[in-house]
Amino acid sequence: MPKYSIVVPFHNEQESVTALYDRLKAVMEATGDTFELVFVDDGSVDRTYKLLREIVTIDSRVVVVKLRRNFGQTSALAAGFAHAQGEFVIAMDGDLQHDPDDIPKFLEMLEQGYDLVSGWRKERVDNFVMRRLPSRIANWAMSKLSGVDIHDFGTTYKAYRREIIQQLPLYGELHRFIPALASWYGASICEIPIKNIVRPKGNSHYGISRTFRVFFDLITIRFLLKYMYRPLHLFGTVGMLSLLGGLGVAFWLMVSKLIWHLSVMGEHGPLLISAAVLIVFGGHRGARVAIAKPGTSGQRVNPAFTTRIKMTPVTTPTELRLAKRMARLGTETAFETLAKARALEAQGRSIIHLEIGEPDFDTPANVIEAGVDAIHKGYTHYTPSAGMPALRETVAAEVTRTHGVPVTAEEVVIVPGGKPTIYFTFTALVEEGDEVIYPNPGFPIYESLINFTGAKPVPLQMREEKDFRLDPNELADLITDRTKLIVMNSPHNPTGSVVTEQDVKDIAAAIGDRDIMVLSDEIYSRLIFEGRHHSLMSLPGWRDRVIMLDGWSKTYAMTGWRLGYGVMRKDLAAQFGRLMTNVNSCSASFTQVAGMEALKGDQASVDNMREQFHARRDKFIAGLNNIKGFSCRLPHGAFYAFPTALQHRQLNGKPGRSAQAHWRLGKEEPLAKNLSPQICADKTRSENSAANFANKHELDFP
Ligand code: PLP
Repeated sequence: MPKYSIVVPFHNEQESVTALYDRLKAVMEATGDTFELVFVDDGSVDRTYKLLREIVTIDSRVVVVKLRRNFGQTSALAAGFAHAQGEFVIAMDGDLQHDPDDIPKFLEMLEQGYDLVSGWRKERVDNFVMRRLPSRIANWAMSKLSGVDIHDFGTTYKAYRREIIQQLPLYGELHRFIPALASWYGASICEIPIKNIVRPKGNSHYGISRTFRVFFDLITIRFLLKYMYRPLHLFGTVGMLSLLGGLGVAFWLMVSKLIWHLSVMGEHGPLLISAAVLIVFGGHRGARVAIAKPGTSGQRVNPAFTTRIKMTPVTTPTELRLAKRMARLGTETAFETLAKARALEAQGRSIIHLEIGEPDFDTPANVIEAGVDAIHKGYTHYTPSAGMPALRETVAAEVTRTHGVPVTAEEVVIVPGGKPTIYFTFTALVEEGDEVIYPNPGFPIYESLINFTGAKPVPLQMREEKDFRLDPNELADLITDRTKLIVMNSPHNPTGSVVTEQDVKDIAAAIGDRDIMVLSDEIYSRLIFEGRHHSLMSLPGWRDRVIMLDGWSKTYAMTGWRLGYGVMRKDLAAQFGRLMTNVNSCSASFTQVAGMEALKGDQASVDNMREQFHARRDKFIAGLNNIKGFSCRLPHGAFYAFPTALQHRQLNGKPGRSAQAHWRLGKEEPLAKNLSPQICADKTRSENSAANFANKHELDFP
């Protein structure tokens, strides 16, 4: 069901149909809520209906209701209301005299709880004598008679709660009296000023004659409002007097005839006829009130005799109507930058890649062989959703060894890459309105997915003066009753910081025994140049409060294989398994076999890669620190540098823009010039930039 229905009657409005549709669409889409446009063709003989049919084929939110002939505005509105399905219904004219931009004002009042919001053409632009004066008198009279204190009964531009409008009997020209009728049903009513635009196209189909008819209707409405449920109080008295009078006269004539032998027809003919008329009139009134219904002259369209046209678009809709949550989804700009860079490379441009964080090493040969062999051996089918039991066992044994805590296979879920563990953690644990603390700057997917889930992202600043390490005191300050989850990432993307053993203890103390889970992203845990990797998971009592993320992408240069894992308490792992069944079925089977070989096989390639990254880091950071205006702390892990462009503002003249920051490391081409938002990754902090040194060739590392 759409939230809003906009009902618009059209009668020979070919000039305005398309323009009005375009404007309504723009205004309603901006509300971000669902809506339908119910266009009623009131027996048009021009191209109106043809245009409406064209619109309905391209926009499935449009419903066209066709009346078989011209029934008049009230009947057309009533037909539209009958077909409207929205919680709220807004009615307006089809001739562009009503400005769609006023719709949000109506919606605001409906949201405040009013049942009926009436438009008030405060600054009317039409002729004073012919329209404004009679209308003012009629509105004044209407307000007095109905007791509804509004200025403008006549305009169609009104908004209603659907249940109110659908129970009102509408025909003749009753639409002008909707507020009066609605108040009689107990509706709460308010009025808002609307723009009154000069009819831009075509001629008005409503003349002054209508204004006079309104007065007759006014009288009828007065009677309706007063005597609707007690008609005998009015018609009963009149009819009774008439009947009694007629019977009295007839009785007297009968007595005259019988006693005095008068010739009734000859001497009292007119009196006899009068008596007959009074009797007939009196009897007739009595019969009439028994079947009286509200309404004035005019007809009511039986909805069964209207044609409703609603088509599933046969052509692709011009606009994609995405779910609202998609607007909250962020991205990892490195992928977009990479795509642009690749496009430029295809044109022959030389590009130095600092954007995407992936090792330029090949996947170790033994791993490739294991994968290829697995394909040949038929590992090309589904595996259990949470991963092959043997691989889960292998990971469990590995984590037990590296983290010093016992982990079982049931606590491991094999997923396609590192990212699914982030997504599944938020999906399984975080509700709308919960707070999630995450590192900033940080891997952009955290913030993106926190927003996507509808939770509140609470950034924890990673400060340069703290060597970009998470500050436990700041963390403690950010924790509230609504904190559901904290994201940690060490070694850290994009600063390369690595938490110390003491940091981990302090973080545990800051969280205390609150009911908060921690997502510990340890995807770079094997890429540490100084010191050791420390994980919250290893602390006593913390194993079940941590979801540990790791994978093969970075450690084994297997980004394209898509293989990762999450380690977590058994009951949560079962839920991850359910998510896997729903989203991926399972990770690729031959990839899992290759992953097993990676863990079990020779680790020399991992050590070799780390050593090479270590050497590149030293050269890259020294090079950066040699550039005038840049300073860069030594990253202790991963393969990112996060330099501070001290004179960045002077270099490019415009704070926050990386485009003109020409980084030259003995090369003619500027590095990723005009390309890399990663070079100045953190849009909120103009001085900082991120670059990775995972790519050897372009930087001429030894
Ligand atoms: N976590 C962090 C901190 C990362 O930097 C990345 C990738 O760059 C991932 C997770 C995701 O890894 P994958 O590409 O395997 O999904």
